[in-house]
Amino acid sequence: MSSGIGYSYESLLERAFTKLAGKKGSEEIFEVPRASVLIIGGKTIIQNFREIARALGREEDLLKRYFMKEFNTPGSVNEAGQLELKGKFSSTAVNQLLERFVQKYVKCSTCGSAHTKLYKRGKVFVLKCDACGAETTFQAF
Ligand SMILES: [Zn+2]
Repeated sequence: MSSGIGYSYESLLERAFTKLAGKKGSEEIFEVPRASVLIIGGKTIIQNFREIARALGREEDLLKRYFMKEFNTPGSVNEAGQLELKGKFSSTAVNQLLERFVQKYVKCSTCGSAHTKLYKRGKVFVLKCDACGAETTFQAF
């Protein structure tokens, strides 16, 4: 992202857009952190797992269980805060799942804000948006 022309062009566009549109409203840019993935032996390690969970404002345990469920494999978080999953999964696959997690369990489906909370209510997860107040429920896992 920091290399030359592309970057400055984008920031120019950004500036032009901001000037034209004034404020961008409640639609803010939320960047999904990229998982850095390492495959060692028969294990896949998400090296920045702890940082990702923190950036998303979600519990490590929830994010861990999500990956285990989606990849259908056992996993654990080590002392360094890395998630170790049994089996080999590509960086692309991991990041696609992460992206899907954010779309479903972090971003508000009504207004798109990432200022949300996720909590368990009985047998469901409730995603509550701090920005617009919308509530979405999902089957818990
Ligand atoms: Zn919302």
